[in-house]
Formats: sequence, C-alpha cells, structure tokens
Amino acid sequence: TAPLLVVHDLHVDFAVPGGAVRAVRGVSFELAAGETLAVLGESGSGKSVTAQAIMGLLDPHRATVRGAVRFRGTELVGRTRAQRRREPGRRVAMVFQDALAALNPVASVGAQIAEVLRVHDGLSRRDARGRAVELMARVGIPAPDHRFDSYPHQLSGGMRQRIMIATALALGPELLIADEPTTALDVTVQAQIMQLLADLRDETGLALLFITHDLAASAELADRIAVMYAGRVVETGTAREVYASPRHPYTAGLLGSVPRVATRGRRLTPIAGSPPSPAALPSGCAFHPRCPMAQDVCTHDDPPARAIAPGHRSACHFAESVHRGGAS
Ligand code: SF4
Ligand code: MG
Repeated sequence: TAPLLVVHDLHVDFAVPGGAVRAVRGVSFELAAGETLAVLGESGSGKSVTAQAIMGLLDPHRATVRGAVRFRGTELVGRTRAQRRREPGRRVAMVFQDALAALNPVASVGAQIAEVLRVHDGLSRRDARGRAVELMARVGIPAPDHRFDSYPHQLSGGMRQRIMIATALALGPELLIADEPTTALDVTVQAQIMQLLADLRDETGLALLFITHDLAASAELADRIAVMYAGRVVETGTAREVYASPRHPYTAGLLGSVPRVATRGRRLTPIAGSPPSPAALPSGCAFHPRCPMAQDVCTHDDPPARAIAPGHRSACHFAESVHRGGAS
C-alpha cells in the first residue's frame, strides 16, 4: 500500500540579506498509516523547519520550499492555506512546543476546540460544545465541563498541552505532527503527555511524526527514527536497530550521551562542539568538525545516504565501522 506521507528531496532556503540560508537540504522519508516516526536532532538541525514545510506554515516571502510533500498522493508543496483546509491536507494536524503561544489568549480553551469543530465539521454551537467537552475528557482534562470556560493562562503547562492536542484531534487527523511537545514541561508531566500521545495513536490509528531531541523518548515511542544534522537526514532505520546499532557517528554520539541505568551517576559524554549554523556549513560532511572518525575525505566529500541493511540507511563514508558508543 502507498505510504500516507512521502517527503522527497525537501529543501528549504531562507532569504537573508545578501543570500540564502539552507535550513533543510534534501530531506526524504516516508510514513505509513498508523506508523510513528521520530525525527531526532539538536536545535538548528532543520527538524522544526521540515515540519513547518510539511504543514505549509512557512512564510513564502521568506522561505523557498522545493521538493515534494505528498499526503495520500496529493502534493502539498505550493498549496495555499485555503487549499490545505480542504481534503486531504486538513487531515494533517500539528501540536507545538509552546501551547501558550499557540492558543488564543482571549478565548476560552473549550471555545477554541468548539470553533474548530464548527468550522471543519459544521457542528451547531451546542453539538460543538458537547463534542469539545468529550475531547477534553479524552485528553485527560479533569472536570472538562467546568474547564471549558477557562482561559489558557489559567491552566498548567501540561493541561495547556492537552488542550492543544484536543484542538488538533478536533480536525480528525490521520497524521499528527508533534514538535517537541513536552520540552517545556517538567519530567513527570512529560511522561504523561508522551503516554497520552501513545494511547491516542493506539486507539485512533493515527500516524505520528514526533520531533524531538530526546533519543530515549523516541526509541520508546517510535517505530522508526530519522536522525537529522545540519539540514540532512543522516540516519534512518527502525527505532530498535538505530538504538542498538547506530551506523552514523552522530547517532552513536547521541547514544553515548544518554544516561543508562548501569551508568547513571557517571559523567555524560555529549558530543564535543555544537551544530553548525546553517549560514556557515562546513565543507564535505557537515559533521566532520565534530566527528571522532573523520578522515581527509570527509572534509571535501559529502556522503550521500546509502543502505547499510534493509531499511537502515546512513550518510557516512565509514558507516560500517561505527559502533554504539564509538563516538564518545
Ligand atoms: Fe564522520 Fe566522515 Fe562519517 Fe561524516 S562521513 S560522519 S565526518 S566519518
Ligand atoms: Mg525546534
């Protein structure tokens, strides 16, 4: 069967004075119906920009989007906002890291969910209210009838995130894109929101594109992982395989910085250095200034992604020599 979402050779350039910044450089991946893909990377890796390009949220005066984003076979790149509100584009919904910024501060949370239902499903005011209360209950808002009239600032960060998820669910999405939905929350609440997303996925069969910098969280939630660095996907594979046997030094380095039970309390070994600015990308493999395995060839020859094993791809000249923890 055809994949639900196909992203093929996606490029996003931002216009800046005197040139263009290449934020996304040839990203490709696919997502099947009901599947969960974690897009993993540090800030500045292009993962949020990729999500915004899929959603059509980038300002066309600032950003140039090239390549393909096909949802159920329909090309979304180049579609206007109005066109996206029709099928099938409306079946893609997104939740953001900052619910306070995403929600309307001067409308009650219940009214915001009900408004989506009125616009998209043509529900009456009364039916929309009833359905909004159901959705609020579904995402774990206690006393939803009472909370319907609360304003975003009156709720905790975790409750606001649940409201944003309910607003997304009101669209009846087949694909939910979650961009670091738990990053701003404390650890206990993070786990609850992750559990909620997993439950919703399992119950409704929606596909999940989960953007995160948390490798452990992605290994737990995702079927497959796409690791991004400097605007590229440098490794893709099943979560199990990428976690157990990474085939890119960057992924191996991220794994080396994950605290495991056996090593808890020991100093972490994050990858030295920081990701490059997309405005000043290194030559060759963009990871070479930080890569413990870099050779001369890496400074001038940018490695394309290639299959290392069935369904497992890496963009490294020496992928076969990478070992878990080998980059620390
Ligand atoms: Fe490191 Fe070279 Fe592989 Fe890039 S191509 S990740 S610099 S070994
Ligand atoms: Mg981001």
